[in-house]
Amino acid sequence: MKTIGYAAQSAETPLAPFAFDRRELRGNDVAIEILYCGVCHSDLHTARNDWGGTVYPIVPGHEIVGRVTAVGPEAGRHAVGEVVAVGCLVDSCKHCDQCERDLENYCRNGWVGTYNGKDKITGEITQGGYARDIVVREDFVLKVPQNLDVAKVAPLLCAGITTYSPLREWNVGEGSRVGVIGLGGLGHMAVKLAAAMGADVTVFSRSPGKEADALELGANRVLISSDAEAMTAAASSFDFIIDTVPVKHDLNPYLPLLDVDGSLVLVGQIGPVDEPITTPLVFGRRRVAGSLIGGIAETQEMLAFCAEKNILPEVEMIRMDEINHAYERMEKSDVHYRFVIDMATLEAEAA
Ligand SMILES: [Zn+2]
Ligand SMILES: [Zn+2]
Repeated sequence: MKTIGYAAQSAETPLAPFAFDRRELRGNDVAIEILYCGVCHSDLHTARNDWGGTVYPIVPGHEIVGRVTAVGPEAGRHAVGEVVAVGCLVDSCKHCDQCERDLENYCRNGWVGTYNGKDKITGEITQGGYARDIVVREDFVLKVPQNLDVAKVAPLLCAGITTYSPLREWNVGEGSRVGVIGLGGLGHMAVKLAAAMGADVTVFSRSPGKEADALELGANRVLISSDAEAMTAAASSFDFIIDTVPVKHDLNPYLPLLDVDGSLVLVGQIGPVDEPITTPLVFGRRRVAGSLIGGIAETQEMLAFCAEKNILPEVEMIRMDEINHAYERMEKSDVHYRFVIDMATLEAEAA
């Protein structure tokens, strides 16, 4: 199946129009016409080969919302015309112990990324959602609840589930004392979701400028992390801190803020952090942990939760040809809070 998208041809070149093929439908596949695609930091890192291992040309995009246009002969989960979504993973082994407990995101045999992954059958490199169409195994396609605004739902598929999953795993609920580090695409979803779960939410910020925004999103207060007195006063006052900062940084100012048995969970930075001091961990049974996106069942549960609580990301809609400028702005954290590409603009450009 011929399609078009936007690809990077190398780590140094900007994204540009690219014609390529999607696989013919297998028995259990669905074909999707993409309506909107969110823009994640991972897209930028992969396009520029920041993590190594990028195979070019690469079409990024793993926050995908679209409409089913065809289903394979054995596919029965989704019907033509349905609004559906695809997140960060498009396949896994489906039989290991982790897949058996709906944690495809921790599949023992390796899950297949939506882009720059390796198809389990043909070995071809997967291409993501900055495109007109995509073909995905039906088990990895989510249903979008009807009352969620299709134009805004895309960022839930990565930013949403990445924050929802640890909030659930650590049993955040009514009265939980939750801290959020970093108020970007992930952080702003963490605030909205934790508040909707009934938590008391504090946003940590380096500068006072974000206070009004944080409160608007549902936070109860902002704690300025450079204010040593305020940080000391907040010692042992958090059950759970979610750290969404996507670059190397210092965890040490936050560890004493956890209460006994409290956890700081990393969902942003994959790689080194500044040398941690273990004293607060030992003297309070505090924990530092990590979490990676979420399984398919939990992603579906997250969409239902957002539909019930009327939670949607804050998005800035862009045209496909604005993507390189969007990357520049994202690098400066100049986005409120997630870019979403209106894929109709790609069709218009192609025409
Ligand atoms: Zn992502
Ligand atoms: Zn598996």
